[in-house]
Amino acid sequence: MYRVIASVLLLCALTALRGPPGYCAEKSASARVGGEVSAGKWKALRLRNLPQAARLAVEVTTSIEVGVLLMDQRAYRRLPATEEALFQGRTGDHITFSIIVPHSGNYYVVIDNRDGKTSSKFTIAVRAAAGTAQQGLTDVDQELARLSDTLGKAFIFDSLTIRAAKCGTANAFSGAKGVVICAEYAQKLLDTLDNKKKAADALMFILLHEVGHVLMRQWDYPFYNNEEVADEFATVLMVMFGQEDRARAQAEYFAALPTSTELEHKLAKDDRHPLSVQRARNILRWVDDPQLVRKWQPVLVPHMQTAFLKRLQQRPTAWTSQALVKQELATRSK
Ligand SMILES: [Zn+2]
Repeated sequence: MYRVIASVLLLCALTALRGPPGYCAEKSASARVGGEVSAGKWKALRLRNLPQAARLAVEVTTSIEVGVLLMDQRAYRRLPATEEALFQGRTGDHITFSIIVPHSGNYYVVIDNRDGKTSSKFTIAVRAAAGTAQQGLTDVDQELARLSDTLGKAFIFDSLTIRAAKCGTANAFSGAKGVVICAEYAQKLLDTLDNKKKAADALMFILLHEVGHVLMRQWDYPFYNNEEVADEFATVLMVMFGQEDRARAQAEYFAALPTSTELEHKLAKDDRHPLSVQRARNILRWVDDPQLVRKWQPVLVPHMQTAFLKRLQQRPTAWTSQALVKQELATRSK
């Protein structure tokens, strides 16, 4: 069971920094429906004619644990195959997620009770906000949305919320179940780096560092609170998801600063995460170390989604430990 509250708010916070005014105040529509789905069946709510780049936030409440999928028309027609779902999760009793609609068309929220023993009541609440066609999506929007989705598809975790908030201080922090990025922190990064792309790269790294604390804690990894371990975790995820150039770009930038002190004061006065030159050097070293990602596989593989493991087995990446993947899949099929 996992929950991803993807970062609609964060996206808004980011794009509002230098984006056209009103970016996050688009036309929006919401709907709420309820029903019941029998054991062994699925039911779907159709969302008609969503425009490309719309932000869609979905909240599903159910009386028993069921699967929840978000699919476009094409994927929906292929049910019961679910590989092409844009989002796939389970409720416990509740799940919240959001995505950015990749293309115009009909979409379906599917309540999947095929493996249920009893029927389940459900409520689906949907809010869609149109992004304007001219603006389209910024790179940051797309990558953050993709990242949230990728995390959920790759790893099993209890709960992960990533949200932006006005904190009154420039900070980023994590708790047991989620990450809060202060809008002031994003603004300060942008002011300090004075470059939207670099600010986005740095924010992505910081986000993954915090995600690292949350996931390692949920996975009972003993060093979840260690800052260097969280930096390693963030670097490893960036390499696994093909974002290593961004990690390198931001680390190089920080490493090249004449002194870390000024930046630390600017960025991290009351933060336990100073982006010191030393940390930047670590990141640079790790990104170019092919052993690092392999070293982390014994920690990560037991928490990978089965579908993700199967994909790694069929198409191993440079960092895949084929023995570990095979062993884990064998354990699960017992
Ligand atoms: Zn930390």
